[in-house]
Amino acid sequence: MVLSQFDEHSVFSKLEKSGHQNVVYCSDPGTGLRAIIAVHDTTLGPALGGTRMFAYKTETEALNDVLRLSRSMTYKAAITGLNLGGGKAVIIGDSRLHKSEALMRRFGRFIENLNGSFITAEDVGMNPKDMEYIRMETKYVTGIPESIGGSGDPSPVTARGVFMGIKASVKEFFGNDSLAGKSVAVQGIGHVGEILVGLLRNESAKVYVSDINEERLGQVAQKYGAEAISTNSLFDLDIDIYSPCALGATVNTETINRLKCSIIAGSANNQLADEEVHGKMLLDKGILYAPDYLINAGGLINCYSEIAGFNKKKTLQMTENIYEATRRVLKKSKEESIPTSEAANRIAEKRIEDIRKIKAAW
Ligand code: NAD
Repeated sequence: MVLSQFDEHSVFSKLEKSGHQNVVYCSDPGTGLRAIIAVHDTTLGPALGGTRMFAYKTETEALNDVLRLSRSMTYKAAITGLNLGGGKAVIIGDSRLHKSEALMRRFGRFIENLNGSFITAEDVGMNPKDMEYIRMETKYVTGIPESIGGSGDPSPVTARGVFMGIKASVKEFFGNDSLAGKSVAVQGIGHVGEILVGLLRNESAKVYVSDINEERLGQVAQKYGAEAISTNSLFDLDIDIYSPCALGATVNTETINRLKCSIIAGSANNQLADEEVHGKMLLDKGILYAPDYLINAGGLINCYSEIAGFNKKKTLQMTENIYEATRRVLKKSKEESIPTSEAANRIAEKRIEDIRKIKAAW
């Protein structure tokens, strides 16, 4: 069979292009389960990634999402120095209407059949009860509550990692990593954002906060001595650091033109609306961008620790390594005059290639 016989939109063509190892379509009409599990790369270890439930409009939309998300998990694990590969799963359906015990357990059996090459955790549209049903059928689940022996809420670890990423960026830009007197605008003060605000205020940073939840905004601002601002005005502030901790794609052509900050470093996933275009725009404008998938890797480190049996101290130590990893990325970006996102990708790819070589020797 000649591969060129497949059109560019075929599943095989997509897998070849993105370098996926294995994609499993899970269909069970009895329970209404329709899910896709994507294992991108297991060179470094088993593929770990959350399961997301979403009412995708088409099968192609679900496939594209799971391919994109699983691939980014490979990069995240690699750059963070973890012995994990990248994977992701999507369950197609409305998370408010289409859930049942049987559907979740059936999905768990599909994961079990992958014999540990894919390990999952909770993601958008899933809740602890769903994960409990999945765990009835498979041991390959992580990120479970502390009350039943798991690593619990990853948010404090994520916030710590983002904080280390901010400090590393400040060191690169200003020559030392003290945050005293530095101004930081944190957009979104949810699970991660609030803890980050506390860490920043402990180091005497001047903190601005914004959130669409007005009540919470007032409470958090008062609790930590931060200044509440509207989300829109945030992009016009004269500040040192913009920290997106709410949603993706807030760094786009319009906001880059408005932003007056020196550094962008936050927890939100996919902060750049278009990685290539906006990574380059930030480089040209002299704004230092700490790649999101590196500095928000605390949650993944938390899951990894659960699998590896590490305690909290070791988990935090590993999270602090985000400081050095960020420094390495920023250095490479500067030396090669490439966007930081590209520098991070290259370092991640190199690690995978290096480890692939040693595996070939076994
Ligand atoms: P969260 O839902 O607890 O908090 C998000 C906050 O952002 C909420 O308070 C919400 O009201 C606010 N928000 C939503 N839209 C907004 C807008 N337009 N402007 C201002 N505020 C807005 O989520 P979280 O767990 O704190 O995660 C924050 C971000 O970090 C998300 O993008 C998440 O994907 C990412 N992330 C989180 C973790 C983790 O461990 N929780 C790990 C990696 C990445």
